[in-house]
Amino acid sequence: MISFLDLKKINNRFRVEFETKIADILDSGWYLQGNENKDFSSNFASYCGTKYCLGVANGLDALNLIIKGYGFKDKDEIIVPANTFIATILAVSANDCKPVLVEPDINTYCINPDLIEEKITSKTKAIIVVHLYGQITPMEKILKIAKKYNLKVIEDSAQAHGAVYQNKKAGNLGDAAAFSFYPGKNLGALGDGGAVTTNDKELFDKIKAIANYGSDYKYHHIYKGVNSRLDEIQAAILNIKLNYLDKDNSRRREIANYYCQNTKNPKIILPKAYSELAHVWHLFVIRCDDRSALQNYLKDHNIQTNIHYPIAPHKQIAYMELNQERFPITEKIHDTVISIPISPVMKDVEVEIVTRILNDW
Ligand SMILES: *Cc1c(COP(=O)(O)O)cnc(C)c1O
Repeated sequence: MISFLDLKKINNRFRVEFETKIADILDSGWYLQGNENKDFSSNFASYCGTKYCLGVANGLDALNLIIKGYGFKDKDEIIVPANTFIATILAVSANDCKPVLVEPDINTYCINPDLIEEKITSKTKAIIVVHLYGQITPMEKILKIAKKYNLKVIEDSAQAHGAVYQNKKAGNLGDAAAFSFYPGKNLGALGDGGAVTTNDKELFDKIKAIANYGSDYKYHHIYKGVNSRLDEIQAAILNIKLNYLDKDNSRRREIANYYCQNTKNPKIILPKAYSELAHVWHLFVIRCDDRSALQNYLKDHNIQTNIHYPIAPHKQIAYMELNQERFPITEKIHDTVISIPISPVMKDVEVEIVTRILNDW
């Protein structure tokens, strides 16, 4: 069986480092808001090239906190890609803002910069870009539009740790960015985790307080805050794994390049990286018209696959108010995508087998 993502194997590479560190934390008696969290925030900020980073409980919280930090509310409109994981849109509606969906570019699967301007109204406050499947959204035009209309640009970087666009990393391309360290992400914890990165001190201080019960000083509460913390053990795990992130991303690129160069089946549409470094291949997503036939065929040949994602956000029961809207490109993507195995621990021989089996279909 070629597994879709062997998390046990991924993490076993660091087992000794993990065990030593976890034992130290156990012995320290200090489990939250300690040195590991401090170190990770500073290490991840310098990795991304931002001035600030705040460790939080998960990626959805990171998005939520950015929206709260900017004070968006009361049906303020936020532009989001129609083609994204639901969390991006949940963060908008959770803050009583209105998600305004925009179709993707079929070549990048990210929001289409050419379709944004027509959706801007006097209530628009921000654009959230999602670097989907690990590829950075082409930002040039989006940043220009944001400047013209005085909008904040928020990056959902949950799938793009370490991706580089015009010499800047994901997380340092807009006004603020949200990261997730869910175990399956390119930088994954052994549980939940997330972070906000930004160069905006005022926003950072506010988010830091909001995430800590709205308190900037113990038992003094200036906001109606929440509790969203990255615990010491997860921060320690992430500190260790951050050292290997670039190497792991390079291995993902190697595998993706092999797939792209050697998969030759007219029924399969391959993904394209518009620039080598802009893509960290969180997922390798192919498309084909008869998706379920391909998925069954791969399963019969012991290859695990996944669908990212089967139902578009505007088609979900939770978003009944959007069910009548039409996003044909988004729908087409949701109907035809299938994710094949990619991970830093995949062996060459496994990549070759997957490719051969795809070509034989
Ligand atoms: C994983 C993910 C999130 C949410 O992260 P969690 O840590 O699971 O809350 C948000 N957006 C995107 C695009 C994601 O892939």
